[in-house]
Amino acid sequence: MPELPEVETVRRHLEPLICRKRIVSAHLPENYQKTFSGITAAECTRRIKDQSIDLLSRRGKYLILELSSGFLTFHLRMTGRIFQSVPSESDWKYITAWFLLSDGSGLYFKDVRKFGRIVVSDSMEWLEEKLGIEPFSEELTPEYLQASFSTRKRSVKGALLDQSIIAGLGNIYADEVLFLSGLHPETPCGSVTGKQCTLLCKAIVKTLQTAIDLNGTTFQSFYFGEEETSGEFLSQLNVFGRTGLGCRVCKTPIVKTRVVQRGTHYCPRCQPN
Ligand SMILES: [Zn+2]
Repeated sequence: MPELPEVETVRRHLEPLICRKRIVSAHLPENYQKTFSGITAAECTRRIKDQSIDLLSRRGKYLILELSSGFLTFHLRMTGRIFQSVPSESDWKYITAWFLLSDGSGLYFKDVRKFGRIVVSDSMEWLEEKLGIEPFSEELTPEYLQASFSTRKRSVKGALLDQSIIAGLGNIYADEVLFLSGLHPETPCGSVTGKQCTLLCKAIVKTLQTAIDLNGTTFQSFYFGEEETSGEFLSQLNVFGRTGLGCRVCKTPIVKTRVVQRGTHYCPRCQPN
């Protein structure tokens, strides 16, 4: 599932290609109406026709086309992919929506598992209500984390995955952040100290920034547009997907367990319970 670094990588790649173009029409195969959260292609076209794409921005794991009036928001979920190159014949069955742009090019949304969603809206309030702070904003402080954690009973891993606290972290980066912080994933939120919150803040920024610099982590080349570039962060992972392999710090085999129903990887020695 694309997390913040993968979505940011797509944004940086796509922005110069589509900005300042106008949307001519929206299209979606009839079966896939749920991609647009229920509205029809005609209704979508009516709302965004002739609007220019002013900006491509990101909030958490969401990709947002800021239009001359209103917003078109993409949530890639599991397998969503957005690109401009014309899909191959075999790929068309996975195209759940596409947009014709003013220069005659298309913007295609391919989604093999069809969990991805596109929302047309006049404001972004609906998303702001759901999401917590951006990890690269000044709002990410040890005090913010400790205050958010103190009101929750779950594990620290569960809290890192909670998009209403910090937007953008998913399963891969949460495991990596906990390793860098030396915290066991099942540590109860309420017992995380101020010092540990400082370590978490640093680890969150460092992990996400390094992943963005390396174009994210790609197990399959789902996230990219015209070029099948793959993310290089895969080789930098300390714990995620390294079950049984030696810890890069202490050589202890990495353990995989389940926390908040998600496969969770950690070093039992560097992250004692
Ligand atoms: Zn270790």
